[in-house]
Amino acid sequence: SNIPKIVILGAGYGGILTAQRLQKELNYNEADVTLVNRHDYHYITTHLHMPAAGTDSVENTRVPISKLIDEFKIDLVKSSVQEIRPHEKKVILEDGTLSYDFLVIALGGESETFGIPGMAEYAMTIRSINSVRLIRKHIEYQFALYKNERSPQERINFVVGGAGFSGIEFVAELADRIPALCKEYDVDPNLVNVYNVEAAPTALPGFAPELVEYAMEVLRKKGVTFKIGVAIKECKPDGVVLATGEEIKAATVVWTGGIRGNHMIEAAGFETARGRVKVDEYLRAPGSDHIYVIGDNALIMNPEGRPYPPTAQIAMQQGVCCAHNIVTAIRGQQPKKFEFSNKGTVASLGKGEGIAVVGDKHIKGWRAAQLKKIVDMRYLFIIGGIPLVLKKGKFL
Ligand code: FAD
Repeated sequence: SNIPKIVILGAGYGGILTAQRLQKELNYNEADVTLVNRHDYHYITTHLHMPAAGTDSVENTRVPISKLIDEFKIDLVKSSVQEIRPHEKKVILEDGTLSYDFLVIALGGESETFGIPGMAEYAMTIRSINSVRLIRKHIEYQFALYKNERSPQERINFVVGGAGFSGIEFVAELADRIPALCKEYDVDPNLVNVYNVEAAPTALPGFAPELVEYAMEVLRKKGVTFKIGVAIKECKPDGVVLATGEEIKAATVVWTGGIRGNHMIEAAGFETARGRVKVDEYLRAPGSDHIYVIGDNALIMNPEGRPYPPTAQIAMQQGVCCAHNIVTAIRGQQPKKFEFSNKGTVASLGKGEGIAVVGDKHIKGWRAAQLKKIVDMRYLFIIGGIPLVLKKGKFL
């Protein structure tokens, strides 16, 4: 048939919003839409730090994709993308091949280890449901081992590399979980150490110094030891070596220090910076009128000429915009330029604590934590309506 084929790679924030928007805007038989994702569920990436630390369940962090899209309108393919072949207009899956007229690349980012020796091998990362299950079980197992071996300190030393958004959110949850683990495994809480190591001169770059100081104070009170302005030089099976020469023995190292674009994009021959594609104002790959790149894989400059940080918020807005632009391309109409509308940023600092920036307002403590819940519920509402809010929303 000569109905245009649209293929969306990835059903994260960007991909789900694209699919939902296409489903809404396209007329019957105007295009074939296929959504490819490695799992049959969508995960709420911005929640992953909680199941990673064990302060929330995996089930609260994922939703079956079939509940989010209309499978009469969108073909869901559960498969892993292996290769993108732009010159052939084809995508190679682990179990087949798809051809497309329009492609949306929304595969999310990957961990960037900056070539730090041992980091890719020995550190764990917060990237998917499977990776956070591993972190949670690993942490619990260290407590169990501690009591069965001769109490080696590295079993109950924890290192989080990176004090950006996800590092701080994870370290806060971990600090919240430690007392319960100590109780369960009969470990003296005073013996446990949680280190957060950051190479940059500040934690939470991008937040105002006043909020950064507040966040660090909240976390110090929960028992976190910060090492800011100190790079990790090497990661080993039993800990990390810092640029200062200091060695921290730890059987658990979680790396949150950097993210980059998906390696398949580079491999496909797109021009990239740290794996991300500098898209045009309509979100298309340079020189292409039918390949869109969104979310963590897209590089967009703000009006001051600096790249926007990759966030769920921008990925969602890009999903809506690129869906619209594909529909207009099919209809021979004028596309819309992407413009980011910043609704603010909230970082959680564990139970009942957070920091937020909304416009020029700074919000701290309980009010920021409430705001985080509202942001989360708004997202559930956008993708799944009231039923999803009732099922997965946290009201307490
Ligand atoms: P993703 O949401 O990562 O989705 C990518 C999808 O592609 C996934 O479903 C994945 O399974 C699938 N996929 C990947 N590879 C393949 C393959 N080869 N084949 C098939 N499918 C594949 N942002 C905020 O705005 N606010 C926050 O509070 C916030 N908190 C965060 C906390 C943590 C712990 C982390 C890790 C991130 C946080 N972020 C936050 C960032 C945000 O999660 C990302 O920017 C956002 O998820 C990017 O969306 P995306 O659509 O590009 O990719």
